[in-house]
Amino acid sequence: MVSKKPRVVIIGAGMAGLTAANKLHTSAAASLELAVVEGGTRIGGRISTSEFSGDRIEQGATWIHGIDGSPVYKIAEDTNLLASDQPWECMDGTLEDPVTAAEGGHALSPAFVGPISRLFNNLMDFIQGKIDLTAEHCVVSGGETSVGSFLRRGLAAYLDKENKKGTPVGCWSKRSLQEAVFAMHESIQRTYTSADDLCSLDYNAEKDYILFPGEEITIAGGYSGVVDHLASALPAGVLQLGRKVEKIEWAPAGGVRGDGRPVTLHFSDGTAMSADHVIVTVSLGVLKAGTTGGGGSGLFDPRLPNCKAGAISRLGYGVVNKVFLRLSPDYFPAGGFPLLQMVFHPSDSELRNPKIPQWIRRTSFLCPSYRSSRAVLSWFTGQEALELEKLSDDEIIGGFSRTVSNLLPSQHQNESGQKFDQVLRTQWGSNPLFLGSYSYVAVGSSIDDMDTLAEPLPKYGGVDTAPPLQILFAGEATHKTHYSTTHGAYFSGLREANRLLKHYNCIINGV
Ligand SMILES: Cc1cc2nc3c(=O)[nH]c(=O)nc-3n(C[C@H](O)[C@H](O)[C@H](O)COP(=O)(O)OP(=O)(O)OC[C@H]3O[C@@H](n4cnc5c(N)ncnc54)[C@H](O)[C@@H]3O)c2cc1C
Repeated sequence: MVSKKPRVVIIGAGMAGLTAANKLHTSAAASLELAVVEGGTRIGGRISTSEFSGDRIEQGATWIHGIDGSPVYKIAEDTNLLASDQPWECMDGTLEDPVTAAEGGHALSPAFVGPISRLFNNLMDFIQGKIDLTAEHCVVSGGETSVGSFLRRGLAAYLDKENKKGTPVGCWSKRSLQEAVFAMHESIQRTYTSADDLCSLDYNAEKDYILFPGEEITIAGGYSGVVDHLASALPAGVLQLGRKVEKIEWAPAGGVRGDGRPVTLHFSDGTAMSADHVIVTVSLGVLKAGTTGGGGSGLFDPRLPNCKAGAISRLGYGVVNKVFLRLSPDYFPAGGFPLLQMVFHPSDSELRNPKIPQWIRRTSFLCPSYRSSRAVLSWFTGQEALELEKLSDDEIIGGFSRTVSNLLPSQHQNESGQKFDQVLRTQWGSNPLFLGSYSYVAVGSSIDDMDTLAEPLPKYGGVDTAPPLQILFAGEATHKTHYSTTHGAYFSGLREANRLLKHYNCIINGV
């Protein structure tokens, strides 16, 4: 009798899934049967390089967050993705010399903006354990639960100590303008973390988050080149696109089905596939949707144990979208469009201009894709990011045109008032294969929940007779210090591949 090879099926061909597949194939192709089933029609998941207005752009992951020690940087370097003849998004790095403009068309000087920006950065650095705050900041943390509440306490302490007198700017008092500049920084932080409200972002977890040192860069040849490289090692047939998994049947109490394998995957087209091990790499958003359905309508059958389902529901997962706009032919400001930092009256203020749409008011900047590009881009987070997904192209173009006219009334104007003629916006929130953008540690959860999420089922070395390691979990949300990033997803895929290789004694020279 010929013994069957163990079959490993990986759900999802994003960074985590492709890293796991690449590692399993290159380490144990002869000992394992491997398949990657992807619900979409392309690989890469939340990595998606595309084109807009003739430029290379990123719809999802954009930055390598610190190049020293980053496996993503290493792949990009080894595969010559760090140079290109074609321009690419943020090829000049983060733009400097921003123009900061407040609603009503008031240009704010660096002397005004600088102290508030420094305050914000110092408070964030303190939360992240990078600096000690001096008495000058008049704020000490104590029993803090959220990043948002600490920041607001820090701002209040600063403003109380500050000389309240100051020349009003138009209808802005000095204090309201300082608060609005601070709110602009909060909006940027919302985008970094994906939290709709910084008051839902856990205070303690910030210290545990790790960023690699070194420069932050974008990938000249496109981020998708990294996942293309990982996939290129896989033989034909391993990668199966258009295979959306609807249900994962597993056997926590033992008792295997028809062909002796404990797990059966059911696909949306009615077909099924059995497996000994399944590595689930779908996003936390897809897991949330798949574990809250009542009456057995969830992704897992039987349902996940309570500890796992609890971790999934407690952890935070938000929506971040990018918008790309092309400058109209008759609107190309001399020297190019600036890095525009936008300062708005708060949503509940009576002073706000009705021509500026509500959905723009918690968005902080608009900047060219690179210095001389005709494409400008902005990032949206949370409720506004979801709202943006439903707007028509004309509504987006009109909203941005009116906002730019209001903020920059004297410079950068054109006759028609129509500043943009083409738009591309991402829709990560409503796409059923993602249901959001990346994870964060929400108030009420902790990084231990990410470890719980990463635990395989049933646990290896358990006392039951059930076959071990039926369901393994990878994906950015399962990495407790690098969550929300491509390298976090990479490490998680490697971790689960190594778990299986160890189980089958396939590791020859360590990992
Ligand atoms: C707008 C945006 C900007 C970002 N910016 C950065 C950045 O600058 N730097 C950075 O490091 N990270 C960034 N990220 C985060 C980064 O993209 C992700 O952390 C990472 O790509 C996640 O990889 P993953 O493999 O864990 O998940 P995914 O990429 O989501 O892969 C999971 C795969 O599973 C598939 N799938 C889902 N459900 C099913 C199903 N039922 N059946 C079969 N297949 C299914 C999906 O189609 C997907 O391909 C950004 C993300 C977004 C959205």
